[in-house]
Amino acid sequence: MVELAKPGKQRRLSSPNSLLSTKAGTRKIMKTYHGSCHCGRIKFTVNTIIKKMVSCNCSICSKKGALHHRVESEQFTLVDGKEHLVLYQFDTKEAKHFFCNVCGIHPFSRPRAAPSMYSINVRCLDDYDLDTASYEVIEFDGRNWEEAVEKLNEQLRSNSRSPA
Ligand SMILES: [Zn+2]
Repeated sequence: MVELAKPGKQRRLSSPNSLLSTKAGTRKIMKTYHGSCHCGRIKFTVNTIIKKMVSCNCSICSKKGALHHRVESEQFTLVDGKEHLVLYQFDTKEAKHFFCNVCGIHPFSRPRAAPSMYSINVRCLDDYDLDTASYEVIEFDGRNWEEAVEKLNEQLRSNSRSPA
């Protein structure tokens, strides 16, 4: 079963920015980014603060060249193209890799390390400029997933606690 946000049940935000309460009690401004596949049939938005992203060397990520940014499911909205999304799974079949059945681009996935979350392919965001933005890329040794995943989750957790 493909779990995607239903258009009628999305929380509407009155402004493009929303506030994220952190564990430290501080509040940071989240931004709404717009993403799509190459042909534009799949469209999504994500409310987030992009400080860190993950580059993975596993068998599929090294071929896709995706840069991953994890968000909670409520931060993600599939705007259009549900009928064009194809689910691809392999090996343990825990991760859900979605791609467009027209252009083949991979816009997001549900990661094995955090199945309740969405992993956005930052390269598919149309209003985020990788050349000018400032961010940190975490290298994840996905080829040795079992050994490396705990460290990755810790690195991403420390991100959400750190000041803006
Ligand atoms: Zn497409």
